[in-house]
Amino acid sequence: MNTFIVDAMLGKLATWLRLTGHDTFYSTKVHDDELLRIALDQNRILLTSDAILSRRAKDTGAEAMLVRGTVDEEVASVFLKYEISPEADPSKSRCTKCNSTLTHVKDDEKERIKGLVPDQTYNHYSEFWLCKYCMSVFFQGGQWTNIEAYMVKIAQLMKEMET
Ligand SMILES: [Zn+2]
Repeated sequence: MNTFIVDAMLGKLATWLRLTGHDTFYSTKVHDDELLRIALDQNRILLTSDAILSRRAKDTGAEAMLVRGTVDEEVASVFLKYEISPEADPSKSRCTKCNSTLTHVKDDEKERIKGLVPDQTYNHYSEFWLCKYCMSVFFQGGQWTNIEAYMVKIAQLMKEMET
């Protein structure tokens, strides 16, 4: 599976790559030189909205894609180019905050996440996904319905862009 490094302007794109299970480096504190170095050292594809940076990456031998347009167009064009299926499965997703892999917490182990989510959420859901690195908790609540709806929208846009 491709791994990515995303420039500071493309935070939403980074989130969607992580949700679809892709190892994606994203930081707002890293300068262009550092982005290029990490792309090369870690063999990551650089996604950038900066034409100069994209050109520099290609000159140094890093794979790069110049990403343009609205957020929806950014996501759809990257998914098309790298053959990413517009489906978010929490058991494959990475933490949207820190990029770590998630641990599935089933009903009988859910005490592990007590206190990390509001009581109402804790009581209502039986399955969770925990990021052991930053202690973020994910669950298939209303938020997840929005994620699925967005993936349907992206799938549609990908079809339109293909033709
Ligand atoms: Zn995390």
